[in-house]
Amino acid sequence: MSTQTILQANYSSITKQIDAATQLAHRSKNDIKLVAVTKTVSPEIMTELFALGIHAFGENRSDVLLKKQVALSALNGQIEWHFIGRLQSRQVKTIINTIDYLHSLDRLSLAKEIQKRADKTVRCFVQVNVSGEESKAGFEPDEVQATLEAIASYDKIQVVGLMTMAPYDATEEALHQYFSQLKNLQVAMEDLSLAHAPCHQLSMGMSQDFSVAIAEGSDIVRIGSAFFEGI
Ligand SMILES: *Cc1c(COP(=O)(O)O)cnc(C)c1O
Repeated sequence: MSTQTILQANYSSITKQIDAATQLAHRSKNDIKLVAVTKTVSPEIMTELFALGIHAFGENRSDVLLKKQVALSALNGQIEWHFIGRLQSRQVKTIINTIDYLHSLDRLSLAKEIQKRADKTVRCFVQVNVSGEESKAGFEPDEVQATLEAIASYDKIQVVGLMTMAPYDATEEALHQYFSQLKNLQVAMEDLSLAHAPCHQLSMGMSQDFSVAIAEGSDIVRIGSAFFEGI
């Protein structure tokens, strides 16, 4: 089978699962945004994804992101770039004006650096460590409100929502718990009606757990490996 055929089949299987999860949750599939996490694949594969109608790509390394933006410059302006990985402060200036969303605002020192380097407002998700795993980046749930309040002084940052990653080995029951906890926190933050932090959206769900994330209210799923199985 050609790469294109495999990608198409994987894409179709992913959209079917998204449709099923939204129906179960009495939500519309149009409410879910799919970001293809392309960190493991080449610009050629990304061009094929683009041809299938996928125009939002997620990357987690600044050097790779920049190379891919150059390689795909023919599609300039048609791709939405999502930065989803840990962003080192010294890399902020190299990428912050080339991305559409940052999913991994995980510390105040990063916000400060973005304020210094951004030419215009950057749409960010505040990353939350709901599982409490030591290895995971992000704020503790009970730090989030103070974080949003602190970010108010950085006018280059708009907090569009919250993001989390569940542990790789979580049971289905634990996944429901982590994702519903983030949903509740997102609604509480939205209710604060902070001008710089509307906090309307939830970025949660990866290949292994996106159906659970959608059941619990996710708006944006970040899917990598499920796209590329069999390639
Ligand atoms: C790699 C990655 C994903 C995608 O994970 P898959 O399991 O390949 O779908 C999503 N979000 C983040 C932050 C990632 O690093």
